[in-house]
Amino acid sequence: VDLPIHDAVLARAAEFGDIPALIDGTDGTTLSYEQVDRFHRRVAAALAEAGVRKGDVLALHSPNTVAFPTAFYAATRAGATVTTVHPLATAQEFAKQLTDSAARWIITVSPLLDIARRAAELAGGVREIFVCDSATGHRSLIDMLATTAPEPRIDVDPAEDVAALPYSSGTTGTPKGVMLTHRQIATNLAQLHPAIPAGPGDRVLAVLPFFHIYGLTALMNAPLRQGATVVVLPRFDLEQFLGAIQNHRITALYVAPPIVLALAKHPAVAQYDLSSLKYIVSAAAPLDARLAAACSQRLGLPPVGQAYGMTELSPGTHVVPLDAMRDAPPGTVGKLIAGTEMRIVSLDDPGKDLPAGESGEILIRGPQIMKGYLGHPDATAAMIDTDGWLHTGDVGHVDEDGWLFVVDRVKELIKYKGFQVAPAELEALLLSHPDIADAAVIGRYDDDGNETPHAYVVRRPAATGLSEAEIMMYVAERVAPYKRIRHVTFIDGVPRAASGKILRRQLRESA
Ligand code: ATP
Ligand code: MG
Repeated sequence: VDLPIHDAVLARAAEFGDIPALIDGTDGTTLSYEQVDRFHRRVAAALAEAGVRKGDVLALHSPNTVAFPTAFYAATRAGATVTTVHPLATAQEFAKQLTDSAARWIITVSPLLDIARRAAELAGGVREIFVCDSATGHRSLIDMLATTAPEPRIDVDPAEDVAALPYSSGTTGTPKGVMLTHRQIATNLAQLHPAIPAGPGDRVLAVLPFFHIYGLTALMNAPLRQGATVVVLPRFDLEQFLGAIQNHRITALYVAPPIVLALAKHPAVAQYDLSSLKYIVSAAAPLDARLAAACSQRLGLPPVGQAYGMTELSPGTHVVPLDAMRDAPPGTVGKLIAGTEMRIVSLDDPGKDLPAGESGEILIRGPQIMKGYLGHPDATAAMIDTDGWLHTGDVGHVDEDGWLFVVDRVKELIKYKGFQVAPAELEALLLSHPDIADAAVIGRYDDDGNETPHAYVVRRPAATGLSEAEIMMYVAERVAPYKRIRHVTFIDGVPRAASGKILRRQLRESA
């Protein structure tokens, strides 16, 4: 565990040798373990030669490609802290992250080069932009492989040095830069590994973005550490995704709830041979048990297993172990992983620990807790108390056997006349309606000053006749009166972050 992240992940790369580490799901380009190992060392040498020094921040700005891990591990081997950037960020958004993180270097891809250049101009302070593929005027990783410079020997302190600076999803506010040390990331990989082991012969499909901590861990670091093969797709397109599962005989999926929804409901799913799949893991947002069951039954798989975490936790604390997926209680996000402690405390009286069955805020203590938010010691102190407990801001409860159930975020709970309503519960119910393709719920103040549930609904294309009244009735027949939906707005699509989370903020602003 106490190795720099590139050494921790690639410890067995020589042993895995010719096994494909990465395959491009669109054109079949393949990199073996031997190549990833050799290439990232050469690129590290070229980065050091270019002037990258220990502690420099390097912005990695790329969709999922086979080169992404090489760029990432080359940068950390050269001593840099990698801040991963959303490939759809505007030049302004990218510039903000460059400024916030004081980044000095950028690695991008040629289709995004203009945005990277503009961002660098706006931010100032960037010394050089490299590209993964070839592009005129900038050094590419391919050119850099030819360097004869020596491999850098950086003295990494795994406990202190920040390997990655991912940004949180920005679901509740401005995304925050989260400082994760080599040790925090490596420890979390080792903690999660026994729950869902993988190895040579296993093929995971990387459609969730590597730039987000979930993709970075579940789809890049974890499979590469174990000798599995990662098939990469640059974005989520249902047919391309299904085609990749079929053509590459994918064995495992790590997804977010919107993909589970598509797998459960979309007619196209029936046209593909998905029989290579052995299991599906979902994380990042609440997943309804009925929806999960509909997905796994349709595909003939064990129930979808969940995991729970957050950027600040490197990122995982709970997972349904592979061998327990069939028997775990429906809807659970899993059991606490080794070396980690949890408390559930009362929302009204934060000092009070709650017994099994009662919902409160989830607190976590363990070695995977972030070093802090970059440049925001006050926000760090507000989240991690002096006893080392991180206050997740999520509401949940455990059952008698220790399985955790996440209800929703504390901040998203709708307080209706003293009752608490979880948007996630109403969203799940709406999705169970055959004519509803997608849905989101937020609290809205009515004329009497009461916060009430307001649904945003996407109708199925063939169901434009579905009315507000029908939807309100459907929900009213199934929930206690205080949870009833009081307003319905029809929309074309639910706004979501790249990690699959509903951007309730955007709905609120549009209301
Ligand atoms: P920000 O902190 O910037 O507002 P964010 O919290 O969405 O954004 P992430 O770190 O990507 O940023 O997400 C962590 C959050 O995702 C958790 O706090 C939790 O609310 C949610 N989450 C993760 N896994 C699950 C899960 N299995 N079920 C329900 N919610 C989950
Ligand atoms: Mg958060």
